[in-house]
Amino acid sequence: MIPTVQCPKCNKEEAMDKVLTAHSNQNVLYKCPHCAYSKRQIQTSKG
Ligand SMILES: [Zn+2]
Repeated sequence: MIPTVQCPKCNKEEAMDKVLTAHSNQNVLYKCPHCAYSKRQIQTSKG
């Protein structure tokens, strides 16, 4: 199962694989395909 992330702007949920791009171990970029909102190092429920 792929966990989902909720956009803080438009509140739509997308699969983490689609909205999160890992540039390195500690640098994750979130980008919402619905409203184009983007943010670095968004919190995940991991760990
Ligand atoms: Zn959004």
